[in-house]
Amino acid sequence: MRAETIKKALLSNGLNCTDEQAGKLSFLIDLTLDKNKSLNLTAVRDENDFLYKMILDSLLVLRNLGLNNAYILDVGTGGGFPGLPLAIMVPNCKFVLLDSTKKKINHVRDVVLKLGLQNVICVDGRAEDYVRENSAMFDVVVTRAVASLPILCELCSPALKVGGIMVAYKGEDTYVEINSATNAMHVLKLSVVTATQYLLPAATGYHYYVIIRKDGKTPSAYPRKYSLISKKPL
Ligand code: SAH
Repeated sequence: MRAETIKKALLSNGLNCTDEQAGKLSFLIDLTLDKNKSLNLTAVRDENDFLYKMILDSLLVLRNLGLNNAYILDVGTGGGFPGLPLAIMVPNCKFVLLDSTKKKINHVRDVVLKLGLQNVICVDGRAEDYVRENSAMFDVVVTRAVASLPILCELCSPALKVGGIMVAYKGEDTYVEINSATNAMHVLKLSVVTATQYLLPAATGYHYYVIIRKDGKTPSAYPRKYSLISKKPL
């Protein structure tokens, strides 16, 4: 996709980018759509749809959230979303992109090399293991289209420093999900800061960035094994 088209779309949605960043986003779109023919990375196949539903959806959060010199974990990054567009746009932040599907992480690693991104590390592994081994390390955890909010709270928050934030990309039922996560947030010492609603150009329905802060240390019993996390969510 043409870098100029990307730059204009970002600008008309309140996001500035350099020619170099637009070029990298353009290359990212081409590489992902090409790989998508053999590996199922996204249901989005059309270039324009991809620009809105994958790139802008990953990036609009930057209108509300200043990320500066932060250490950021993307849990369940899949083909690299939202982690890769964010890493291109905020090069002063360091990113760890984590996914349990090896084939997807191998692809993301390849893209990182091709784009020359110096601020990204790719890890294949399960979130519940990784966050236990890297507890209280991160300023920010982002996660998109991975699990319901109570499960995400347990999978993501142990990796945060106290005072750090989780950004969960969510759809229409955000408020129902937030209600269902009341107990999980209480147990894990989390609180909702904001749920910012946004409408993507040419898309149906509202999306939300739910921002959740870690107010205290995660109790040592968490995260539990994945079978328990998913069968008996907090
Ligand atoms: N965030 C991407 C991918 C969403 S699909 C996007 O928005 O396009 C969900 C991804 O989460 C899958 O790639 C799956 O492998 C990964 N995943 C699910 N549970 C996980 C876990 N416990 N640990 C690590 N990755 C997980």
